[in-house]
Amino acid sequence: ATISTKVIAKINAGKRAPTQAHHTATHLMHAVLRSVLGKHVAQKGSLVNEEYLRFDFSHFAKVTDEEITKVEALVNEKIRENIPVVIKEMKKDDATATGAMALFGEKYGDVVRVVEIDPNYSIELCGGTHVGSTGELGIFKIKQESAIGAGVRRIEAVSGKAAEDLINEQFDLIRGIRDILKHPKDIGKAIENLVLENGELKKNIEKYETQNIATIKNALLQKVETIGGINFIGSIVNVSNAETLKKICFSLKNDLKDYVIVLATAIDGKPNVAIMLDEAVATSKNWEAPKIIKEHITPLIKGGGGGQITLATAGGQDSTRLNEVIEKVKSLL
Ligand SMILES: [Zn+2]
Repeated sequence: ATISTKVIAKINAGKRAPTQAHHTATHLMHAVLRSVLGKHVAQKGSLVNEEYLRFDFSHFAKVTDEEITKVEALVNEKIRENIPVVIKEMKKDDATATGAMALFGEKYGDVVRVVEIDPNYSIELCGGTHVGSTGELGIFKIKQESAIGAGVRRIEAVSGKAAEDLINEQFDLIRGIRDILKHPKDIGKAIENLVLENGELKKNIEKYETQNIATIKNALLQKVETIGGINFIGSIVNVSNAETLKKICFSLKNDLKDYVIVLATAIDGKPNVAIMLDEAVATSKNWEAPKIIKEHITPLIKGGGGGQITLATAGGQDSTRLNEVIEKVKSLL
């Protein structure tokens, strides 16, 4: 069938220029990778668009930070040399004789298109779109290196305006961090100090928490009530997080037998409750801590919870009835 409609093909220059830059940068990087990493580097896949370039190649180790820096530096050197990109058509055998790189497994015709960027540096068989000379790339920057399979690495990189954008993004990020840190002279040192200080504070908090748990535990042991042969502790305690409630329960465990423990606290106005049953009590009374929580506690604190047969916790919205929570559990004994 024939189509009689006229069509006009137009090149989208806004996409074309950055795509050309990324494609040409791929040629340069390919040649540089072979000189930095070795001649075993062969293209396994390539994607080029206006935003970035992605290049997959054979190599059996991670490309180190030093190698990345070296590859960037060499590509940028070739950019600054402003080497003309020369495109020739020649017989396939003549092209092969120049040492032009071809894609393994790719079928070529008798006449091939050869793209030359410095004949001593990069000659490839290629039908793609390129810049006129390497200076048009402006700058080249690798964003990421990763493994995509056994012996295949992937590099994502940018050139031209996309590289400028990436560099600006990074500078903005550092500026933002510097603002947050109130403009220290040495930003790296400032962050290192913060991390150290944070570690010290955490250690201190843990130390005080351990002391606090011991103090609360000793006070609670003074308040054990024996009801029907069960040692009951029910109390509102002052702790800063729900995890500590559990820790207090566990610390009491070693000093008691046949126990039922219910501890309640309000953290930032929100109620938290922990119930722990001695295994012997759970068995003889056929009690389960999560069941007690669900049936008797969560309605009072307007919340939810759960756990194991011998230990369950709950959180909720209403912290005004914590005394009732304790009385309720006591009344079950
Ligand atoms: Zn090309």
